[in-house]
Amino acid sequence: MADRDNTRKIKVGGVEIGGNAQISVQSMCNTKTWDVDATLSQIRALQVAGCDIVRLAIPDEKSALAIEKIREGTDMPLVADIHFDYRLALMVAERGIDKIRINPGNIGGEDKVKAVADECKKRGIPIRIGVNAGSLENRLLEKYSHPCPEAMIESAADHIKMLEKHDFFDICLSLKTSSVPLTVDTYRLASETFPYPLHLGVTETGTEYMGTIQSSVGIGTLLMEGIGNTIRVSLTADPVKEVKAGISILKAAGLRKGGVKFVSCPTCGRTEIDLISLANQVEKRVQAIDKDITVAVMGCVVNGPGEAREADYGIAGGVDKGLIIKKGEIVGTYPYDELLDRFIAIIEND
Ligand code: SF4
Repeated sequence: MADRDNTRKIKVGGVEIGGNAQISVQSMCNTKTWDVDATLSQIRALQVAGCDIVRLAIPDEKSALAIEKIREGTDMPLVADIHFDYRLALMVAERGIDKIRINPGNIGGEDKVKAVADECKKRGIPIRIGVNAGSLENRLLEKYSHPCPEAMIESAADHIKMLEKHDFFDICLSLKTSSVPLTVDTYRLASETFPYPLHLGVTETGTEYMGTIQSSVGIGTLLMEGIGNTIRVSLTADPVKEVKAGISILKAAGLRKGGVKFVSCPTCGRTEIDLISLANQVEKRVQAIDKDITVAVMGCVVNGPGEAREADYGIAGGVDKGLIIKKGEIVGTYPYDELLDRFIAIIEND
């Protein structure tokens, strides 16, 4: 089994990736980077949601120049996403960027790779090499006929060698595809091949619902196998949702503790109250509670009390009423209309 702790460690601003560092959650702004106010506003929203590292698209000089002002406005670790133009990498490096995502094989020659590697080394800026199945080199597509783990690994190895040649080793690696099985197989092979920390993600996964499912299966499988040091859930949605999904994946995998763990039953023919509505309202209200607790909302007195007793706070539904249980002890039975407010008040007042 792969061991994420045995990867090299890099530092992105104040956040470590790799080795024994906590697995970080990343997202990417979808604002125009040159619109400093809009970008800072989105960075703040991502920070509040629990994001650890934010990536910004740098398609042109205007965006690269904006990094200076953005840097002044936030302490969030920032990554510049750059394709093809090495001069943009040098510009953001001078303006306080914390990491650069660039593929050295795509920037047009040895001297340019050396310029970027030297500048990043001088400033302690790590580089993420991002291999994507959709943009594999023609040579590899001809050799392997289609994107496959071996082709992805060979592409990554080529990019890595270009940096290592210039004594640059602060590298992080991603190998994303839009297929969950292909992504998982590729990262498995990467974890056996490279000593560098892995940035996990399934790319182009779709909108919020399907994207969250695909990312959960792909990223979750790898995390449970001990693979992966930082994650990004890619959704065609508000980036804040990517962060929430990422944190939830880490919690589900048992890799991040803290906050409210919410449990509710799936409902069945024994359910006597409007549990779906109640569970949704409780889940929403407990999100604002900053406590390391388990909260259970169960539909009946058959399985409900047992599960509710295991939780710190629980509700077990009856006919138009419900039992509130706190740390295994029954607090009381309340009419349905009062249950939600009483339950939240009990948790908050403790
Ligand atoms: Fe059905 Fe009760 Fe189980 Fe909920 S807890 S699924 S209502 S048996």
